[in-house]
Order: sequence, then C-alpha cells, then structure tokens
Amino acid sequence: MRIAVLTSGGDSAGMNAVVRAVVKGAILKGCDAFVVREGYEGLVLGNADEAYVPHAELDTTAPAEVRDPSFIQNLRFGDGELLRDGTGDYPGGRSLKGRYIVRVGWDDVRGWFAEGGTLIGTARSAAFRTPEGRLTAAYNLIKEGIDAICVCGGDGSLTGADVFRAEWPKLIKTLRAEGVITDEQLNRFGHLKIVGLVGSIDNDMCMTDLTIGAPTALQRICEAIDNINSTAISHSRAFVLEVMGRHCGWLALLAGVSGGADFVFIPESPPKGESWEDEMCAVIHRHREVGKRKTIVIVAEGAHDRQLNPIHSDAVRKVLAERLGLDTRVTTLGHTQRGGRPCAYDRIMPTLQGLDAVDALLEATPDKPSYMIGVRENKITRVPLMEAVAMTQEVTNAIKAKDFDKAMALRDPEFQESLEGFFITSMLPDKPVLPPAQRIRVAIMHMGAPAGGMNAATRTAVRYCLREGHTPLAIHNGFRGLLDDNLHELSWLGVDGWMSRGGSELGTNRTLPDVDLGAVASKFQQHNIQALIMIGGFEAFSALLILENGRKYYPAFHVPMVHLPATISNNVPMTEFSLGSDTSLNALVDACDAIKQSASASRNRVFVVETQGGKCGYIATMGALAVGASIVYTPENGIDLATLQDDVKWLKTRYSLDSKGKSEGRVILRNEASSSVYSTEVIMKMLKEEGGSLFDARSASLGHTLQGGIPSPLDRARAVRLSLKCMSFIEKQWNELQAMPAKARHAKSDSAAVITIQGSAVKWVPVQEMVEHADMKNRRGVHAWWEGTKVLVESLVARPQLI
Ligand code: ADP
Repeated sequence: MRIAVLTSGGDSAGMNAVVRAVVKGAILKGCDAFVVREGYEGLVLGNADEAYVPHAELDTTAPAEVRDPSFIQNLRFGDGELLRDGTGDYPGGRSLKGRYIVRVGWDDVRGWFAEGGTLIGTARSAAFRTPEGRLTAAYNLIKEGIDAICVCGGDGSLTGADVFRAEWPKLIKTLRAEGVITDEQLNRFGHLKIVGLVGSIDNDMCMTDLTIGAPTALQRICEAIDNINSTAISHSRAFVLEVMGRHCGWLALLAGVSGGADFVFIPESPPKGESWEDEMCAVIHRHREVGKRKTIVIVAEGAHDRQLNPIHSDAVRKVLAERLGLDTRVTTLGHTQRGGRPCAYDRIMPTLQGLDAVDALLEATPDKPSYMIGVRENKITRVPLMEAVAMTQEVTNAIKAKDFDKAMALRDPEFQESLEGFFITSMLPDKPVLPPAQRIRVAIMHMGAPAGGMNAATRTAVRYCLREGHTPLAIHNGFRGLLDDNLHELSWLGVDGWMSRGGSELGTNRTLPDVDLGAVASKFQQHNIQALIMIGGFEAFSALLILENGRKYYPAFHVPMVHLPATISNNVPMTEFSLGSDTSLNALVDACDAIKQSASASRNRVFVVETQGGKCGYIATMGALAVGASIVYTPENGIDLATLQDDVKWLKTRYSLDSKGKSEGRVILRNEASSSVYSTEVIMKMLKEEGGSLFDARSASLGHTLQGGIPSPLDRARAVRLSLKCMSFIEKQWNELQAMPAKARHAKSDSAAVITIQGSAVKWVPVQEMVEHADMKNRRGVHAWWEGTKVLVESLVARPQLI
C-alpha cells in the first residue's frame, strides 16, 4: 500500500509524533510512506510534475550485515530536511516548490516528535470544501498511486475526511468519465481507505479521553498559572486568565483543577444562578475572608452565561475590581498555548495511535466504517469516525439550545468528575455538609519516595474533609512520625498552594508499621484515627498489608484504610498508573532532549542514560518510547552478553547507514537495577571501545531529577480525581462499620484496599487480593501492562531489520 499522512486545521503538539509514527509504521509494514504538505490544500494542489520521481538518490545498496535489505530502500529520501527547514528550499538544488505530496523515508522523520506544531504544514482549505476541490484531490491521490490516507486534525478536518470517503465512488467515476484515469485505476482505487487521528489542543472530541496536543497545551497553561501565582500572592492581586476553547471547556476546567483556581467559566456548564457576577463574587469574597491573598479566575474563550451572553475576561476583571475592590489583571494566553515542545504524553500516545492508524488502514474494507483512533485511559481505541464527529457536534448543538445538562452528559465521565472535583476543592462552604455523628477523623500519610501529585492528592482530601465536616489529620514523616506523635490538623488555607508543589509537604520515609505494630495501634487509639489514607509507592502497599493482617490482634486497625499509589517507579501491582509517573516521564524527556542535542553536536555520540525505577522498568521503557531511545535495558529483561553483542552490531550498522557528515546523537536508557555486572559505566566503556571511528560513548545518571520539580497537570488532575474516590470509599466503609453493633465492629478485609486504574476503569482492589498479583521480592507487579513496549521501542529504531 502507499499511505499518505496529512495534518489539518489548527496545529497542535504531537502532530509531528503522529507523522513520524505513521511513516515508520507504514515502512515497517512494507508500505511506501508519503506526507501531504499544507493539509487538504496540499491534496488539492498536488504535484506539479506529471509523474512521481524520486527526489534524492536512494541508498539501495545494503551493507552485508543488514538482515532486511528491502528496508534500506525506505531509509532516506532526504526531504525530511527540507520540511524541517520550513523553507521548502535547499541549497543542494532540491526543492519542494510545486510538490505537496512527498515520498518520505525512515530517517526523514527522525527526531520529529520532539518538535511542536507540525513540520509538514497545515492549512484551512476552502478549495477542499468544494466538490471540484475534492475531485482534484482525488485525482492527485490516484496520480501518485496513493491508496490510503491518515488525517490528523480537529473535528472539522475529520468531517472533511468523512465527506471525502463518502463521495469517493462518485469522484472516481467522474474522473473515469472525463478520461483522466484509466479503467485499471478505477478498479485499483475503488475504495479510499481513510483513518482519522484527533489533533486538537482543546480536547473537544467526543469518544476519546484526550486529543493529541491537549496535554501539552494544558501544561503551558499550568506553567503560566504557576508563574502568575507568585506575583498574585506578592501583590494580593486577582488574575483573570483567558484560555482557548470555543466550544469546549476542558482546558479551562483542567487548568482550574490543576492550578488551584478560584473560579472557572466554561461553555458546557455556565454558573447556575441568575447572575454569574453574584455567584463569582460570593465565592471569591469568601476566599478572601478566610485570608487568601490571591485570586485566579479562568475563562474559556467561548464562555457564556445561561442565556448564551458571552462572558469576556475583561468583564470579569471589571466585576472583581468594582465589586470586590481587587487589584485585577487580565492575562490572555493566546497562541503560547499551542506551541512548544510536546510533553511525554504527547509523544507516547500519538506514537501508539499513529502505529494503530496504519494497522487500521491495512485492515480497512469497503464494508467497514472509517475509524478514528482514540484513547481511553491508556488504551488505544478505534471508533467510527462519523459517530465521534456527530456526537461532538451534538455538544455544540446542545450548548446552542441551552441544554447544558445534555452538553455535560455528552462529554466523557472524567470531564464531569473533574468539574465536581473543581467545586469540591475550590469552594469553602459556610458550614459542613454532614451532621456531627457522621464526621470522621481521617489520617493522611505519605510513604516512600516523593512523587509528583502527592501534595495535590492531600490537598484534595483535606478540602473534601473540611467541606463534609471530617477532621483531616496530617501524619508527618510516615510511621516514624506517628510513633513520635508528629500529627496536626490541616486547614483549608494551609493547603491552598499545594497543587503545584513537588516533593512531599508531609514528609515521608520508608519505615513500615511492623517496626512496632503494637505501638502503631496504640497511636491509632490515642489519636482516635478513624480512617487512613496512605499516599505512596510499594511501601504504602506493604504497610497496608501489614495493618490489615494486624487487624487480627489490634481492634484499632478496624477502620477503613486505603492506599493511593504515588511513585515514579509505577511499580504498584495492578494499577497502570501511579501519581508521579507522568511527572517523571516529563523530567526524563526534558533531560534526554538536552542530552541528545549535546550528543548530536559533539561527534556521533551514544549516551547511556541511567534511570531510577528500582526493579521496575516502567520509567525506562516508557521513557525510551517518549525520547526515541535506541536501546532500553530493564530489570525484567536483564542484560546478557549476547544482547550486548547484538546491541553493538545494531549501533555499528546504524551509524554506518547515517548520512555522511550528519552526526547523530543516540540515547540508550538503562534502569539502575538492570544488571549488577553490566553497569552503566561498563556498558559505556564497552561501547566506546567498540565504536571505533563510527561512534563515541558517554554516560549520564538522571538520579533524583526524575522525581521532577513541579508535578505535571495530568498528575495533579489525576490526584484530585483519585483522592476524591478514596474519600467516598472511606465514607462508605465507615458507614458500614457504624451500622454494626459497637462491640462487634469488625472491618471486612476489603475495607483495606488500593485504588487502581485498570484499562479504562478505576477499580478498588482489596490489599489481600493484591498480594496475589505482587512480586514481593522484586517490589513490582507480577505482570506489567507495558511489557510489549520494549518490542515497540526496538521496532521504532528498526532493530529487527538491521541486525
Ligand atoms: P479543525 O480540523 O481544527 O476543526 P477546521 O474546522 O478549520 O479545523 O477544518 C479544517 C479543514 O478541514 C477545513 O479548512 C476544510 O478544508 C476541511 N473541512 C472541514 N469541514 C469540511 C467539510 N464539511 N467538508 C469538506 N471539508 C471540510
């Protein structure tokens, strides 16, 4: 097959990762890969030359050691450089002028995913909206022999894709009737295979959790809020932040949740009362009353009231200044939200989605619908493109019809949960919700190493407690702190700035409760701890198990106890994500981008980069996918001599195939516990020795930098969602206990549980059940959902083809 990929509509981070993945995926499946420049406009413009001619000399002679010589045919056409250059012109005399459908090879898209925007260009095409334009586009595709296209864009672009497919049979018949294509072409191109990927910073598409580019845009917004926070506090100011989102409030809402804002205006859910001014002022006045020195209000650009009158950021500013006397400034983020380097998520997911898009094209038949590749939690999904587009348009229509409940219902459940989470964590009620008899003393503890999102989860639990009337008790410094009576009640204002704080505000250590279980039980009694939330990694899981087992001897442990996984290693069994793992992947991407740059600048250099992760290779493996590492070493797979020999062979072959005069830095990721013999240093020295004149080697250790300074917005938002679920679990279990006669209050074993993300669902797993899935010796799960990723990392560097 000949597969073309194009990007259309508004640009977003991650589009380049899609193009790279589609190109590589196509080549891996034995297809020819093309890119279409300037979106649909490029399809309509086509190529000025009559027939396709290779633009650069192909490297057709494969070195003897290459296993798959045909791969070499697709290695390089040289046009990636032209595209990257942005001018389309190249001193060597080659030019992209007049050529919009361009054949590309493996190396042409190398390193693309680290760049923001779209290197192949995007446009809004008026011509493609017309039947004549689409007829020309169809002709151009057939002329270049292209059987399948992959479109990455927003709902407009995907609608265009569907229109094109629906019209295709008519278009080719017309072309045949006009005599511009032959009967043979009519038969061969009878069915247009098309697949859509959603590239949009707004996260405005239904039937997928996250659109490509939305996480990066959210990151940009949160960086801005974090920066504004410090100046707002200094001057006791109010800031009104306008963010993108015409029909979708996802960016505004998630920025509000993860940035700890005071109020948000989103199109799907305008303030409920008659007057948004009164509602907002009441909330902010209350916050100021308890001593808040800063106010942040976020306004989506498409915000309006219940009557659809627009709410502009300047109107919000005026109200805050005039009615509350606040020194108020407006910041409109505008296009800064689009740009910049993609975050780890916007490299990993588009890569997986791009590869799946190629599979979907290869499996396409005339009787199947065209698919949109989406994502649910961390699973790649295929949904009928038109259904997703229709549902998305329904949201817009519901808003237009002022049916806001319907608009909210059409968004995914996470959106609804985030909105509730925002209300719970941002609003301070006048009096607690629950009557005194239902109020609980909830202890919160951090365990193990710090991880991004621990403080955000704690802030959420504290604010929920205070809203309901529970007492949030912070235990400082883990079980040691408990034994030293290092506890104190947290206040609503005291946790205000915790969303963006890295590390652990409560202090943390690895001591387990069996250091003195009896003493721990007596402290539970002394402080009247009626529920416990432990936020941490494998230690927290082990501690929960010890406490549950301890229930046999100590009545004090007959209280609801939960573990909220938070660890950069992501080694807690059964859960696919723990808090902090996204933050640390971002830290790894930042570090490796810099290392790769340095490695490319100074001769052909291979960097062996050591990551943390204990005996769990998650961070190394997903990191490898996110930075395009050449090789990844994990404790699960270990390292042996035969592997090292193959690695050297691969590197030598790969460097020998690089363009002359172009130095390329390559990264190898090695988890710290991959091997006790083949250390990072040993591997580096070995590569240095073997590289000879082809490549040089250096090593670097990322160490604790992976704990990441400021938690990523995804970790913060996830912390809020999961922490609230922990609280409702605790309340439910506590109420069940209260229903038992006081003398026989025995907590059921499943009231000690771990909150996990499995597939697309959040599930509670009793700690006793969890043990069956845990490798206690190696401190990780028995099964790792990401096991197959190593093979993917290797196929994305063509390891099977080259050795
Ligand atoms: P986005 O994809 O970001 O939503 P647009 O709505 O501007 O951006 O759509 C991008 C391009 O997709 C348009 O410029 C047009 O070429 C094409 N397109 C959108 N809707 C249609 C349609 N109904 N029919 C044909 N082409 C369309």
